[in-house]
Amino acid sequence: MSQRSQLSDQPDVLSLDSGLEALRQSPDFRGPVEPLDDHDHSNDHFALVYESREELLTSAIPFVQQGLERGEKCMYVIDESTREELEGAMRARGIEVDEALESGALVFETIEATYLRGGSFDADEMMELYASAIEEATREFEAFRLVAETSWIVEDDLTIEEFMEYESRVNDIFEDEDAIALCVYDRERFPSEGICDVVRVHPHLIHDSTVCHNFYYTPPEEFCGPDKPDHEIDRMLGTLKERAEAKTELSDHKRFLQELNEITGSPDLSFEEKLDAVFDLGCEWFDLELGALNRVDPESDELCVEYINGEHEYYEPGAEFPLSQTYCIAATDIKEAASVSDPAEEGYDDLAVYEELGVESYLGTYIPVEDGADRTFAFIASDSRADPFSEDDRAYLELMGQWVKYELEQQQYQNDLEETVAKLQQSNDRLKQFAYAASHDLQEPLRMVSSYLQLLENRYADDLDEQAREYIDFAVDGADRMRAMVNDLLSFSRVEQADEEFEAVDCDVVLGQVIDDVQVQIEENGAEVAVGSLPTVTADPEQLEQLFSNLVSNGIKYNESDSPRIEIGAEERPDCWEFWVADNGIGIDPDKTDRIFEVFKRLHHDDEYPGTGIGLSLCQEIVENHGGDIWVESEPGEGSTFFFTLQPAGTAGE
Ligand code: ADP
Repeated sequence: MSQRSQLSDQPDVLSLDSGLEALRQSPDFRGPVEPLDDHDHSNDHFALVYESREELLTSAIPFVQQGLERGEKCMYVIDESTREELEGAMRARGIEVDEALESGALVFETIEATYLRGGSFDADEMMELYASAIEEATREFEAFRLVAETSWIVEDDLTIEEFMEYESRVNDIFEDEDAIALCVYDRERFPSEGICDVVRVHPHLIHDSTVCHNFYYTPPEEFCGPDKPDHEIDRMLGTLKERAEAKTELSDHKRFLQELNEITGSPDLSFEEKLDAVFDLGCEWFDLELGALNRVDPESDELCVEYINGEHEYYEPGAEFPLSQTYCIAATDIKEAASVSDPAEEGYDDLAVYEELGVESYLGTYIPVEDGADRTFAFIASDSRADPFSEDDRAYLELMGQWVKYELEQQQYQNDLEETVAKLQQSNDRLKQFAYAASHDLQEPLRMVSSYLQLLENRYADDLDEQAREYIDFAVDGADRMRAMVNDLLSFSRVEQADEEFEAVDCDVVLGQVIDDVQVQIEENGAEVAVGSLPTVTADPEQLEQLFSNLVSNGIKYNESDSPRIEIGAEERPDCWEFWVADNGIGIDPDKTDRIFEVFKRLHHDDEYPGTGIGLSLCQEIVENHGGDIWVESEPGEGSTFFFTLQPAGTAGE
């Protein structure tokens, strides 16, 4: 674990990292904050080189505020600022200055009472002052935090060596204690060489709203010693190398991410092809030989290889191993990325994967998947490695693992969806079969009821009284309605049972037939039916006739106009024909236009307009069976236009 994450695991220990956190989280501090170097955590003291008051305040005030919030004692040594200005800036950021001053959590000190206490600077005295300030502060408070203005140095005849010595002692004292310090340097006030030295002796610098890990840092002992020029050269060369390495590393990261993005985002590759390419990418980056996706079950200690790139003597899709005898057990145990780079050294040399299969390095991660379909995603090689895997390697692997998890979940979701659709289809088919059988079988007894009622009416009409005849009329009426419903239901349930091998159907011919079918209704209502030029489509001709017939007949039926008029037309759309059947009838409330396509849904009572409520559901069923859509546009009193789409001739129906 890196030092940085160790520190963030223990937020209560005061360190330089906390100070940086204050800047990272401050809305006033807008620049980047470079994390501390993982290895060189040499002191708890850093410097701000500022060029404007604003730059000073946006760093120093959040630093103090964080200290107060954490219950620390904060000392601000004022040199060129004024106390009013600082207090004002603190208040503006919401610091309860009076309260903090009163409790002793915040103190302002002058240069005269601190650095220049005896008239001029004395490093020993200053150390004593710090030591007692820290001791006193930590007795009552969580820690000690210092902001010190430094322009006095320019006036004092302090030599650079003395100052360096002092700096190294400050480092020591702050490192050992629960204390951090921020020394602030006004660039305008210091001579260039002075600022140069400040830069050299602080490992972490804040400048121009940026917290930098300082490449120019020279530890004080090197800075002052006789080998200074040599050290300087070492440092310069080291810096050049570090810069170059950092730059290449950055572009490597970018290249890896780009390649991974290209593979996983490619619309042309299947999951298997993407996986294969991701394996290849991983092998290249991790310098390993083989990538594998395995199904694992920790409970039954099983591992089954699912996919693999390349060839391996023992590893191949379908191969099974006890999970605990593979390195995947390491990733399974911690449920995240794990690595093995030297099995003997790391205590894995008793595993079969090492002893029998000769695998010596491993980088793998655990992918939990719902319904017991957990996987491990891993790379292996037959050689052990000189260098262990880096944090970056793990991060890349985790990234790849996250993609695999996402894909697997999508697949599972898709499978579940297909299963549900198939089940729905099955139950729909069963219902249709039932409706078909029921309506078919009902026809016979219904016919009996009707014929015997007729017989009763014909033979015994004279023997019956007025009321009995009325009852028979009701019964005949009911039987007629029931026959109409049973017939409609039968047509409805037949739609999907029709053979789906559609043919090219000329709609003009179909419409000729439809007008013949509804001729009586047309004449009775004095209706006019205007048919535009219609195309040839791929369809079942009988179903098409039923569709037009229902719509035309409804247009005449739901019509109170003196001269009912139905218009039929079609227009070509990019991938279908759009038909319409428009009437000048009573219209439909737009809120109810969806409901009328449901089976048995009617907006009118039988006394007003007779019907069974199946016609439009049948129309919808027919259109959908042909892979099209049906909808209506209407306003009450404004007539209705029913639209539907069909495939042009030459395309197969769905
Ligand atoms: P039915 O005509 O047998 O009642 P449909 O399924 O054909 O059954 O129609 C359902 C309902 O939709 C009808 O009861 C009617 O209220 C309404 N409707 C259908 N077509 C029209 C139309 N052209 N104009 C106004 N309302 C209509």
